[in-house]
Amino acid sequence: MHEFTCAHQECSSQFASHDKATLMKQVADHVRDVHNVQVPTQTILGYLEATSVTTTEDR
Ligand SMILES: [Zn+2]
Repeated sequence: MHEFTCAHQECSSQFASHDKATLMKQVADHVRDVHNVQVPTQTILGYLEATSVTTTEDR
């Protein structure tokens, strides 16, 4: 399971998915819709993945 917690102040949105690609699509939609990032680049998504995504073992 991959979980994203938005680090943006006063946001703290959380998403979770078994598929990281699906999760990162949700993250891209989130930053575009909520944080007005019109073009979520791989650089931005890579940064968010490194800082805000946690992965836990599926059982
Ligand atoms: Zn957010």
